Amino acid sequence: MSLAKVRIVLVGTTHPGNIGAAARAMHTMGLSRLYLVNPARFPCAEATARASGADELLAQAEICTSLPQAIAGCRMVFGLSARSRNISWPALDARACGALTVQEALEGEVAIVFGREHSGLSNIELDHCHYWVHIPSNPAYSSLNLAAAVQVMAYEVRMAAMAGASPPARRPTESPPASVDEVEGFFQHLEQTLIEIGFLNPSNPKLLMRRLRRLFFRAHLEIREVNILRGILTAAQDKVKG
Ligand code: SAH
Repeated sequence: MSLAKVRIVLVGTTHPGNIGAAARAMHTMGLSRLYLVNPARFPCAEATARASGADELLAQAEICTSLPQAIAGCRMVFGLSARSRNISWPALDARACGALTVQEALEGEVAIVFGREHSGLSNIELDHCHYWVHIPSNPAYSSLNLAAAVQVMAYEVRMAAMAGASPPARRPTESPPASVDEVEGFFQHLEQTLIEIGFLNPSNPKLLMRRLRRLFFRAHLEIREVNILRGILTAAQDKVKG
């Protein structure tokens, strides 16, 4: 099974009990790789108590200071969100996410990202996710407890893994897929260049950059393509600098 390639990333968790309960939820479903981005309190006795036998996962958890650090090296990132947002973005339900996770994990690392108990994931964090994922729930009360959301998602991943995954549809490729950090480097270079050539308003870059991110995510860039695009940007920068 490809579960070893799946990271569960918890961003800014406030209650250590939720971290422990999430570890337990993961362990019951055969997931083992827990990443914690700026947890409010960790390690913590309450987390260990709630992990109830899954404390090995806690001991091995990777503690990160930013979301990009936690997803570095991944080929696909899913962001779990209880709310609908006002910009359209590729969206999946938990079941479809489970299937795609297992499929993508045949070829590389995948991250499934969960937000804070009170405020979820920020828009900037969601910008790092190829898909936004919703667990279908009561529209009048849609927000699950964090560890409950991890449990549902981990279950869907397990069910998809047990059903067996076929490798992703083959596109003709020339070089390996770029990882999210390589693509992120390109986005930063793109934003900087668009400002330098006067296309992007530096005081309000967000909306256009979000649209461009969506466009390039859709393209599933390869390493060589990222290098070509960055070469074009460097040439444009050299031109305006004269
Ligand atoms: N009040 C927060 C919800 C926090 S629940 C908000 O408005 O966004 C903590 C985390 O659990 C969320 O960030 C999300 O990652 C996950 N979660 C809870 N309910 C979910 C649902 N119905 N669908 C997808 N993710 C959910």
